[in-house]
Order: sequence, then C-alpha cells, then structure tokens
Amino acid sequence: MLLVCYALFPLMHHIIAAIKSGTDPVAPLPPGAFTRQLDEAIYCPKCSVYYLLHADYEASVNRFFEQETRRHLSILKKAVMMGHELDHRVTHFETNGVTVVRHVPEKIELPPMPRRVM
Ligand SMILES: [Zn+2]
Repeated sequence: MLLVCYALFPLMHHIIAAIKSGTDPVAPLPPGAFTRQLDEAIYCPKCSVYYLLHADYEASVNRFFEQETRRHLSILKKAVMMGHELDHRVTHFETNGVTVVRHVPEKIELPPMPRRVM
C-alpha cells in the first residue's frame, strides 16, 4: 500500500531539512529510519554560511530524487537568502516542496526564583 502511494505521489513524499552548519537541529529531522546529509548544500557567499541538507536515506538514494527535489531546493534556497537580512537567525528550515517551515528554538523559560525560607 505504501509503495502504491509513493508511486502515485512521488513529489509529496520528500521532506528536506536545511540546517545551518555548526548548529544543532531545533526540531526532529525528516521522518525515516535514517536520514542522510546530501552532497549539495545551500551557501550564502556574503556571510560564508552553509546550510546542510538532510533527507530520508531511502528516498535520497532513489535515482529520481534529484529531479523530484529540484523545487524543494529552490524554495529552501529562497528561504535561506531571505534570512540573510536577519543574520541567518533561523538555523533550521524544512520543506515538503510546497511550503517552507522555519523552525525556531523554543524559548527556555526559567522557573521563578524560589523564595528563601531560611
Ligand atoms: Zn547571508
């Protein structure tokens, strides 16, 4: 059943994450047993900033992968370049080829200082 869906909707199958080099993912990586870092990366020449691309391993070794993810890469590149104005503050993007999600770390709220009772 899963194979049938994949054959019918190959474009919808792929999820690619772009993670700024030197930072940790701030959300889970694309679903799949294993993810693989792609050979291609997104680079901002003005800042010398790289975004490394991660995709499901099984999907990424498919010979149609490159062709099927062209749009993914183009909208990820656009999102990364838009982030240039904001110092590339967003370190983790993810796309399904239709929309780009910007993952931002959750704000860490410190618990209020305990009152000293002693
Ligand atoms: Zn930049």
